[in-house]
Amino acid sequence: MDEYSGKNVVITGGASGMGFAMARLLADGGARVVITGRSRARLDAARRQLGENATAVQGDVSSLSDLDALADHVKRELGSLQALFVNAGIARTMPFESMTEEVYDELFAINTKGAYFTVQKLAPLLSQGAGVVLTTSVANVIGLPETSAYAASKAALRSLARSLASELLPHGVRVNALSPGPIDTGILESSGMTAEAAEQFKAQQAAHNPMQRFGTPDEIARAAAFLAFEATYTTGAELAVDGGATQL
Ligand code: NAD
Repeated sequence: MDEYSGKNVVITGGASGMGFAMARLLADGGARVVITGRSRARLDAARRQLGENATAVQGDVSSLSDLDALADHVKRELGSLQALFVNAGIARTMPFESMTEEVYDELFAINTKGAYFTVQKLAPLLSQGAGVVLTTSVANVIGLPETSAYAASKAALRSLARSLASELLPHGVRVNALSPGPIDTGILESSGMTAEAAEQFKAQQAAHNPMQRFGTPDEIARAAAFLAFEATYTTGAELAVDGGATQL
């Protein structure tokens, strides 16, 4: 299947979770895929699984010099981009009363500033007709306890999708947001929750979801590919992929 043949794409945070599922879908479909992440070991393992269509660039999205190096690599290796998936992000849960400046700054440095400058640095390489997909969260539109700073860092991205859609429209580039509901990728376990709290939270989320289940990384990957390549009359929008959680 060569559905994505001729497409060059970058996926930040592409070594795990839904970013990896996007990378696999697109690389299997013939796209040339660059994944990024902070851990060399995880990137190498992911690249081996993805095969020859993928390359891996180590870098932290909150570092502008790392983003410059990524843009240089993409320019040199691929020339231009047909899609950019701004997927790298972290979750940190903490009651509002005990939120620290350090955790707040980390969330905004990666989720918000990182996303903003990822688009800024790679925008000159986006070709006419290209699609940018920003990964937001259902936390944008519902008030969940202990997620205040995370939710705010992602709500900023929802706004950014609109502003950048407007600024990049003259270049023929569409910018949309994809808002995942609960997807079992391991992100909760690395959010600061204990394993027990993560299990409890997951059971609660599944029970309250209209579809009574978590979504899969593959379901997110297909929606992301739709926004990037097929939604040619859609820009500035947010697509909820959440089992109906924010709609029903
Ligand atoms: P994940 O932890 O597997 O993926 C996040 C990826 O981002 C990882 O590969 C991580 O290494 C990378 N990353 C983190 N900080 C980085 C940095 N500073 N520089 C470069 N890479 C960095 O989890 P996931 O669930 O696949 O998350 C993907 C995106 O989806 C995130 O933005 C997350 O906030 C968002 N999201 C997830 C859920 C969910 O339920 N899993 C729900 C809503 C939104």
